[in-house]
Amino acid sequence: MQHRAMALKRKGQVVGVVPTMGFLHEGHLSLMRIARQRCDVLVISIFVNPAQFGANEDLEAYPRDFERDERLCRQAGVDLVFYPDPASMYAADASVWVDEESLSGVLCGASRPGHFRGVCTVVAKLFNIVQPDLAVFGEKDAQQLRIIERMVRDLNFPVTIVRGPIVRETDGLAMSSRNRYLSVSQRKDALCLQNALAQARVLVQEGERDVSVISEVMRSGIEAVPDAQIDYIEFVDDDTLAPMERIEGRVVAALAVRIGATRLIDNALLEV
Ligand code: AMP
Repeated sequence: MQHRAMALKRKGQVVGVVPTMGFLHEGHLSLMRIARQRCDVLVISIFVNPAQFGANEDLEAYPRDFERDERLCRQAGVDLVFYPDPASMYAADASVWVDEESLSGVLCGASRPGHFRGVCTVVAKLFNIVQPDLAVFGEKDAQQLRIIERMVRDLNFPVTIVRGPIVRETDGLAMSSRNRYLSVSQRKDALCLQNALAQARVLVQEGERDVSVISEVMRSGIEAVPDAQIDYIEFVDDDTLAPMERIEGRVVAALAVRIGATRLIDNALLEV
């Protein structure tokens, strides 16, 4: 892949990449369309990255279907699919990691220690291998996006990070490969995430600025769903991810909720 990428770059081709863990859905495809418009050569990486999963997380169970992914990539006009196996990505005695130290401590970083170290390391490796001019990441993973932008800034990666909006199912559930884990009734319960964000939006529109009031309304809505267990509901500054007590400027409302054993995340930008 690296040799191919270097040859393409020598020819002056603009290379775009969309990093994924596979089991592709319309969210991924939307990022591919964004990238396709901006590059000559579109690369998709498919890699379920062991380094970003905790010991008790769903690394083994994570859904995989390479043949289907490959077909979807072909239909989407992807030029190259980079599909490494874990042993070729990580030497058994790998000992260098990329650690972001400011934005990674909150939200998912607080509940998933080491997760963003795994993410930053694999994305840094991917950038060195694919040598992209641009990379598209989804706003679904709001914290990840900001951490990658910080990594690119702080380590001078010559890569433009492009943000892709959250793609939702027709009933509003944010698309995720993990939605596959949900039973029929859990699938309905999962709507509590976006409902909570919608409630937050309405309250802010009505003039409410106190984060504790808004999060209490969100919390009680989610707690009314028997199978739902809140991991976090947070309001953070759009740039710094610093916790906010009031809605001022651009604030990201972010939440993680377990529906049964499935941990789902969602977020919305609140702007006043
Ligand atoms: P994943 O395969 O879940 O690691 O996601 C790969 C990329 O797709 C990340 O940049 C995600 O933020 C993005 N992504 C996942 N789900 C969605 C979605 N529903 N809408 C937009 N982007 C998404």
